[in-house]
Amino acid sequence: MYSAQPSYWERTSFLDNVDIAIIGAGIVGTTAAIYAKKKYPQARVVVLDRGFIASGASTKNAGFACFGSISELMDDVEHSSESLVFELLAARYEGLEHLFKLIGKGALDYNPCGGYELFKKDEYLFAQECIEKIPHFNKSIKSITGLEETYALDTRKIQESGFQNINACIINRAEGMLHPGKMMQALYTIAASMGIQFFNGIEVTHISESTNGVELGLANGWQFQVGELIMANNGFAKQLLPNLALKAVRNQVLVTSKIKDLDIQGSFHMFKGYYYFRNIDSRILIGGGRHLDMKGETTKSFGSNTIIEDALINLLDTVVLPRTDYTIESTWSGILGVGSSKQPICEKHSEHITLAIRLGGMGVALGSLLGKNATELI
Ligand SMILES: Cc1cc2nc3c(=O)[nH]c(=O)nc-3n(C[C@H](O)[C@H](O)[C@H](O)COP(=O)(O)OP(=O)(O)OC[C@H]3O[C@@H](n4cnc5c(N)ncnc54)[C@H](O)[C@@H]3O)c2cc1C
Repeated sequence: MYSAQPSYWERTSFLDNVDIAIIGAGIVGTTAAIYAKKKYPQARVVVLDRGFIASGASTKNAGFACFGSISELMDDVEHSSESLVFELLAARYEGLEHLFKLIGKGALDYNPCGGYELFKKDEYLFAQECIEKIPHFNKSIKSITGLEETYALDTRKIQESGFQNINACIINRAEGMLHPGKMMQALYTIAASMGIQFFNGIEVTHISESTNGVELGLANGWQFQVGELIMANNGFAKQLLPNLALKAVRNQVLVTSKIKDLDIQGSFHMFKGYYYFRNIDSRILIGGGRHLDMKGETTKSFGSNTIIEDALINLLDTVVLPRTDYTIESTWSGILGVGSSKQPICEKHSEHITLAIRLGGMGVALGSLLGKNATELI
């Protein structure tokens, strides 16, 4: 067990004189640390994460470098306004450009494969509604992507990939996919080269603000004072600040065994973005399905959900990999931070506490810029 008190050496070398502390070593927290150090080169910047490596969403996501399929955007417009939806789309696009510049497309294993939205045969009317909207969305986002036709019908992809029960396919030409593990590894390398210290495997259990800064209490009983705190703990932020407008939700992922001569190349969405799949190393990664058990998946606990796993396997069998032998080789879940609005929260919470949370389902796109923006508030 840890000692309840740090030694003199531990306190003076590791805990004293922390100028900026960040809770959360995901894409947001790590990028925030990098930009805090760029802004204040003399500052002592530390990042705390309760995971052995980041343990929320950044190392557990699907690696879609995406900013919106037509059906998801249409759904968003119904729950918000068109101007807010395009504002968020622009932030995602800009966020991806920022990530590419910070890390480099090569280091991310970025593949500009396009993002494809598929519609099942029994979604015929829904597909027609989405197809009719293509010219409108193309015109509205031309100034963001620089493309005349970001979205287009792409029926060829259905045959080429061997999908079954699919009626229509819309390509988003400006989307792609990347490797989330390599993304986080690259961010950690940049942060380490700048002298940023990471404390992993330790949970921050309470925070309390005073005029001079913020006191952090750790799960091992230690406490220490920091000048500024950035909370980048996304879905888990409510544990420390219970009144935040945020909830934790879980998302499931399955990866198949290797498939010989796999014809499926690219990143695919279905049903308003609730289902997604892609190829990776001759395998298929498939995930989502949260809408099948919204109540059960509103949780900050990792774990599996058999209703959703069965639905994902059924989708593999009937649509994605019909007539193909495969097994499921790995499964995991990650935790998202969502709210009634899809806009992330990037704001000062109080004198010494800044929030950079509620990234939703497209935090790979939003995350690096949000981390940077948070440091502009301190
Ligand atoms: C299964 C899944 C698939 C996804 N697919 C995509 C995708 O393809 N494309 C896309 O753009 N987005 C995707 N997302 C969303 C995206 O991954 C997230 O929005 C993004 O990673 C959030 O980053 P973050 O840094 O804000 O949070 P996180 O990566 O969740 O980091 C928060 C960190 O805070 C730590 N923490 C929490 N509480 C404490 C505490 N009290 N003390 C210490 N540490 C703490 C956690 O351990 C965690 O590491 C997906 C998410 C999931 C779960």
